[in-house]
Amino acid sequence: MKTTAEPINAGMFDYIVTGVGSAGCAVAARLSESGRYRVLLLEAGGKDSYWWIHVPIGYSRLFANPRVNWMFESEPEAELEGRTMYQPRGKVLGGTSSINGMVYMRGNPADYDLWRQRGCEGWDWDRVLPYFKKAEDQERGADATHGSGGPLRVSDQAVHWELGDHFIAAAVEAGLPANNDFNDGEQEGAGPFQNTTDRKERWSTATAYLRPARRRANLVVRTDAHATRLIVEDDRAKGVEFLCDGVLNVARARGEVIVCGGVYGSPQLLQLSGLGPGEMLREFGIPVVRDMPGVGADLQDHFYVRLAFRCTKPITLNDVANSPVKKLVAGLQYMLFHKGPLTSNGICAGGFARSDPRLDRPDIQLNFSVWSFKERTNRGVVPHPFPGFTISAVHLRPDARGSVTLKSPDPLAAPAIRFNFLRTQYDLEALTAGMRLARSITQQGALAPYVAEELLPGAEVQSDADFEASIRKNGVSNLHPVGTCRMGADPQAVCDPRLRVNGILGLRVVDASVMPTVPAGNTNAPTIMIAEKASDMILEDARAA
Ligand SMILES: Cc1cc2nc3c(=O)[nH]c(=O)nc-3n(C[C@H](O)[C@H](O)[C@H](O)COP(=O)(O)OP(=O)(O)OC[C@H]3O[C@@H](n4cnc5c(N)ncnc54)[C@H](O)[C@@H]3O)c2cc1C
Repeated sequence: MKTTAEPINAGMFDYIVTGVGSAGCAVAARLSESGRYRVLLLEAGGKDSYWWIHVPIGYSRLFANPRVNWMFESEPEAELEGRTMYQPRGKVLGGTSSINGMVYMRGNPADYDLWRQRGCEGWDWDRVLPYFKKAEDQERGADATHGSGGPLRVSDQAVHWELGDHFIAAAVEAGLPANNDFNDGEQEGAGPFQNTTDRKERWSTATAYLRPARRRANLVVRTDAHATRLIVEDDRAKGVEFLCDGVLNVARARGEVIVCGGVYGSPQLLQLSGLGPGEMLREFGIPVVRDMPGVGADLQDHFYVRLAFRCTKPITLNDVANSPVKKLVAGLQYMLFHKGPLTSNGICAGGFARSDPRLDRPDIQLNFSVWSFKERTNRGVVPHPFPGFTISAVHLRPDARGSVTLKSPDPLAAPAIRFNFLRTQYDLEALTAGMRLARSITQQGALAPYVAEELLPGAEVQSDADFEASIRKNGVSNLHPVGTCRMGADPQAVCDPRLRVNGILGLRVVDASVMPTVPAGNTNAPTIMIAEKASDMILEDARAA
C-alpha cells in the first residue's frame, strides 16, 4: 500500500457512506434528497459505464470480470472435498446489483417475523413491507403488497420462453400449487420470476437511485476510492481514510459514517479499524478499539446444486450463444429495438417447496434457467455446445455458519471467507429432497418431451449416498451471503436494531451483512429494503438530535 505521509484533506460532510452498492446507492439517495445534508460516497470500484452491465443477458460477462468484480475466493471447504467457493461481488457503482442475476424476490414473511423474535424490534413483515413497497416500481401496478412509482423497476420477463411455461406446468403436475407472484406473502408454488429490469435494461441501484440523485449539489461521489480505515475517537466515528490512486485521503463526518461495503467489505473495514475480535486484531498488530467477536461471525449463505439437462429442441439461450448468426440477429434486435434474447436474464421461472411436508414453510427454491453450462468458475461461464436448460435446487435455510476474518492488515488484501457448508444432516437432506423434486418435475408430461438427457448429476445418481456424493462434489454457494455484521439484541450482535454499531457513536452498518438470518429468497430486494428503512431511521435520529 503506497501512501503519502500526510493524508489529503477531502473535506467535511454530514454523512459519509463507504460502499456504493445495493444498499449504499439507496442510502445516499435518501440522505441527500432533502438537500439539507452534505453526503460523501466512497466506492472502491469505478463508474458503471461498462455496456454489459446494463444489458440483462450481460450478466454472464460480469461473473468473472475483474473490471467490475472483486472475484473473491473462499478458503477450502472441509465438507466439499476441499473445494473453494468462488465469490463474485460487484466492484463498481451499484455494487453487486450491477452484476447480479436480477431476480426480484423478497423472501418469506416468516423470515422477518423471525428477525423480530430474535430481538430485532421493528423488522417483522408488517413493518418491513412498507419499505419493500416504497422501493418498488411494480410493472403490474400497486396493490396491498406491491408499490408503484418507487425507484426500483420490477418487471415480468421481457421474452416469452416456451420452456418456462412447460417447467411451471410440470411443477404443478408434480404437486406444487401454481403461483403467479412469489412476493405477495404466499411463497409456495411454481410460477414465473420477475426481474429488476425495465424489460430492456438492468435496474441496478446505481440506475434506480444514484442516477437521479447525482445532479444534487450536496452529493459528492468518489469512485476508485477504497476506504481503508474508520477514524474512531473517544468511541465516536469521526471520519474515513481512503485511498485514491495510491494517495491517502481523509474525510471528516459531522453526523454519521455509514458502512455499506457488503458482507465481506463491511466486516473487513470494521476489523481494520480496530472493531472486531480482539485476539485476531492483536495478531495482525491492529490496535483494538473495541473487542467485538461478532464482527465477521455468523456468515450464512444459501447452498445449491444445479441439475443440467440436454434439451430436445433448439429453443434455449445456448442456441443463441453457440450460433454466430443467431448472435448477430440477437445483437441487432437489441441495438435497434431493445428487444430479443439480450433483454432476458434467462432465469424465467421457478418455485418454492418444502423439503419435508412437516415444515411450516418452504426451505427449497428451484430456479429454472433456459441455459446450461459446462463450466462456471472464476474463469467465466462456458455454455454447453447444444440446447440445454438448468434447474438449480437451492437450500434456503442451511444450518451452516461461517466467518470473514482478516488475512493481512493490508486493507487492499482479500479477507478469509469460510462458510462451513453442510454442517448438519439437515443441510444434506434438504438439498437431496430439492434435487429429487427438480428431477421429478422433468419427468412430468409437460416437460419430459423436452428432456434428451440429464447431464448433471446424471441418471445413475439414485440412492441417498449417490446424491450426497454429488452434493459434496458439485454443491456451491448461492451467492447470497449475509450476517457478518449481524443486528440483534444479544451481546454478540454487531449492530442494534437501528443498525448502530454497538458501543460506537455515529457509526452504522447498512447492507446485507446486518441480516440476522438469510431470508428464503434472493437477497438484493431485502438489502434495498434495509437501506430504505435505515435511511428513515438515520433521518429520524438527525431530526431528534
Ligand atoms: C453473481 C451474483 C448473482 C446474484 N443474483 C441475484 C439475483 O438474481 N437476485 C437477488 O436478489 N440477489 C442476487 N444476488 C445477491 C445480491 O445482489 C446481493 O445480496 C446484494 O447486492 C448485496 O448488497 P450489498 O449492498 O450488501 O453489497 P454490494 O452490493 O456488494 O455493495 C458493496 C459495495 O461496497 C464497495 N466496497 C466494498 N469495500 C469497500 C471499501 N473498503 N471501500 C469502498 N467501497 C467498498 C463494493 O465495491 C460495492 O460496490 C447475486 C449475487 C451475485 C454475486
